[in-house]
Amino acid sequence: MNQIIVDLKAVGKSFAAADGTPRTVLDKVDFKLREREIVALLGQSGSGKSTLLRIMAGLVEADVGDVLYRGQPLYGPARGISMVFQSFALFPWLTVQQNVEIGLEARGVSKDEREKRAEKVIDMIGLSGFEGALPRELSGGMRQRVGIARALVVDPDVLLMDEAFSALDVLTGERLRDDILELWEEEQISTKAILVVSHNIQEAIMMADRVLIFASDPGRVRYEMKIDLPRPRDAESADVRNLVDEIYAVMTAGRVRVGKTTEELEPIRLDHRLPDADIGLMEGILERLMEEPFLGHADLPQLAEETGLTDEELLPAAEALALLEFADLVGGDVNLTDLGKKYVAAEHEKRQAIFAKQLLKRISLAAHIYHSLQQDPDGELKEEHFLNLLSESMNKEEAERVLKVAIEWGRHGEVYSYNYNTGMVHLPEAEEEAADDSPAA
Ligand code: ADP
Ligand code: MG
Repeated sequence: MNQIIVDLKAVGKSFAAADGTPRTVLDKVDFKLREREIVALLGQSGSGKSTLLRIMAGLVEADVGDVLYRGQPLYGPARGISMVFQSFALFPWLTVQQNVEIGLEARGVSKDEREKRAEKVIDMIGLSGFEGALPRELSGGMRQRVGIARALVVDPDVLLMDEAFSALDVLTGERLRDDILELWEEEQISTKAILVVSHNIQEAIMMADRVLIFASDPGRVRYEMKIDLPRPRDAESADVRNLVDEIYAVMTAGRVRVGKTTEELEPIRLDHRLPDADIGLMEGILERLMEEPFLGHADLPQLAEETGLTDEELLPAAEALALLEFADLVGGDVNLTDLGKKYVAAEHEKRQAIFAKQLLKRISLAAHIYHSLQQDPDGELKEEHFLNLLSESMNKEEAERVLKVAIEWGRHGEVYSYNYNTGMVHLPEAEEEAADDSPAA
């Protein structure tokens, strides 16, 4: 086994929620990063991936557990570890060359040496000829190259990339990724290990020797997959496709209960983190699933490809369809249920009725909102009422997000609605009455 570079042992981290109570973001995370490996980290947003990277880089301190870098406890930023972020954190008033040199300046490297090293990296990363350009004169892809050059110029032992390609268009991201893999394979960079956080399953499989899937609440490693395929890998090969399938299966399993008959399913708990799924997108997917070549059944990677949806869009929508019993998710496949088929075949009003029924039957939060409003004399309640309830089991941001999803779904089914001006959640009739009462404008 190769030597361990970064060693996390039972690492835990909590942050204070809005109301001051601690919220565990990472719990007992064990992770070893070894020499000559690329590891990819996948997981839902908010699962603590960025926090984990910051802890590894020594930018954030763990509350419990040990963080060792080359066998030594890490106190403060680790010199040998460079990070690349999603956003292009470049100084707008500095040229490409100056932006790259800045990391060396902080380390007291002489001017001549700085110039030499920056030129070498600029050339390596494909930015020759742009040394004198300002960031605003560059495309997004070129700017991210500058960000990567700045991380590489210090000859880091470890490179941590936090969704480094996700702000770029697909082709640009792939090209940059392939360039980095080539530098790595040919050992043109002295970096000994790379950790990438990604929300693109295929990207993770194209790059990594090991893929880790992070579970949320609190974040911990839920699944690990080794990948022995030689690089460069072919995205179209059966090997890669099978691995993509496998990861989809793991990422969708456990999010909803599968393989049970409808009667056995329990409603989705009140504090379930409802997925951020747009209704239009859900309907679009249902309709697409009915058509050729799917005819009610698709494997998720294929569906992603056919629809051009990213994993970040597709996975929440697929989960939502499963929560509402419009589809089953089994082993990375999505199958329309009879109800899902009925929904697709129905007219608008019938669809709305089906949606409303499923919402009240399956989603406890929606049912709770509806019953609370019914018990209120005016048929309306402040959104804070529900946010406070949700805040007991999640942080404020997440509570707002979950309530927003529940409200959108309720509006779609015309079960209840929301007034953006007053912040009131109300029954559909309540607003009509209020509108009747209001003086004509
Ligand atoms: P990911 O990168 O997987 O999306 P993050 O590590 O960014 O997740 O965040 C995990 C959780 O920790 C989120 O709920 C986020 O709001 C919270 N969090 C992250 N950093 C802080 C901070 N400095 N203070 C309070 N909460 C934080
Ligand atoms: Mg993040």
